Amino acid sequence: MRGALLTAAAAPCSLAGSYLSTNAFNIMSSSLAQFIAGLGIVDVHEHHMPEILLNREVNLLQLFQQSYAGWTQARPYPLPAETRAGDPMLATPPPTSWEALEPYLHRSGSNSFVRNLVRAVTELYAADSAAITRENWAALDAAVRQKHSQPDWCSEVLRRAGVERVITDPYSDPLLDARHALGDNYSSVLRINSLACGWHPESRDHNGNRAHTLLARLGLKPVSFDDYLEALAKLVDGLASRNQVALKNALAYDRDVAFDEPDEKMARQAWGQQWPTVAERKAFSDFVVDRLCALAGLRDVPVQMHLGTAIIRGSHPLKAAGLIERHPCTRFLLMHLAYPWSRDLLGMAFVYRNIWLDLTWSLLLSPSHFKLALHEAIEMLPDESRLMIGGDNWHGEETYGTLKLARQLIGEVLDEKVSAGYFGLADAQRLAAKILRENALRFFKLQEP
Ligand SMILES: [Zn+2]
Repeated sequence: MRGALLTAAAAPCSLAGSYLSTNAFNIMSSSLAQFIAGLGIVDVHEHHMPEILLNREVNLLQLFQQSYAGWTQARPYPLPAETRAGDPMLATPPPTSWEALEPYLHRSGSNSFVRNLVRAVTELYAADSAAITRENWAALDAAVRQKHSQPDWCSEVLRRAGVERVITDPYSDPLLDARHALGDNYSSVLRINSLACGWHPESRDHNGNRAHTLLARLGLKPVSFDDYLEALAKLVDGLASRNQVALKNALAYDRDVAFDEPDEKMARQAWGQQWPTVAERKAFSDFVVDRLCALAGLRDVPVQMHLGTAIIRGSHPLKAAGLIERHPCTRFLLMHLAYPWSRDLLGMAFVYRNIWLDLTWSLLLSPSHFKLALHEAIEMLPDESRLMIGGDNWHGEETYGTLKLARQLIGEVLDEKVSAGYFGLADAQRLAAKILRENALRFFKLQEP
């Protein structure tokens, strides 16, 4: 995967690569569609990890299991009242069979995650139809296995998707240097969940990560709460040395996102206890998240935050408003349009000027809601720097499908805006280039490829 994407990616405005389907050209005005098809993408969010992306033994069933299509069969994260033995998305799947594929293709065949993956697979593997069927699945499975045995296949898929750069969240190893592991066009984010749960050496986040184990890898062995706070500062100071460009708060999968005013006394009570009370645990993670946001603000490091769905009783974006207000100098990249609360999030992004929006996943959850929300976002965000896009996927095939869908939907919305006389074609083109690549380059201070 190393470096191959950079050389092959199309320059903005170039028509050397075209990443839209003929269908999309028919729907959109061809000049806007062609412009968007020629744009390279700076992808602000993926879960590309070496153990999945560099695996040379991948079959068709695995593409479904290790994708959002897999979420149609079982929610892969536990709710507070549930437990799980391991991450089902990281488990090795059995060989592909029609019986194993059928639940995705038929029982969940109308789901948008499934539609996206079927489109990508049939297109990339040149199926004889736009469907995966009892007749063609075996040939497709053989093609997937054969292509994945070639080391360059994944980078070729991302090149065809027009990806210039990727910022990945490799949650199985929050300290991963993605540039070193995956290629020169990769950066990563540091997922902070385990740090917010680090009251005891054995305490873990929902991904199974232990803060004290991560810190020990960097030679940091905090024995007191104050040592721990010092270690957090060192961890943030070391981000650039690991090619990490932001912090990532995915705590909506561990707890609610109401990161309240820090209660230091209560947070200190959690330190060293294997089983602190619920109130002590909350105070500890509130305090750590607040401290990390302050450290990030002082160093001008962005903070990505998952909002919406997850532990859905606690993931409403307004619950995070206090944190955002307390850190006006910290740049927050709020994710997924906080689905289903996109309008609430847009309201926050109008009021708080330290909010940027990562549109990732929202377009996969519901393409039709995404279009409505994007129309509103364009109209009411304070400036054109605020929107960015990514795939939020595990395998290259799903990223390919997602980014193709993103080009199509963004193009359709901009085309509708031009047709309605809201603004002109030049405005639509300028905004498309900002959403697909320029905003991300500036926001993350990435070098122009
Ligand atoms: Zn994600």
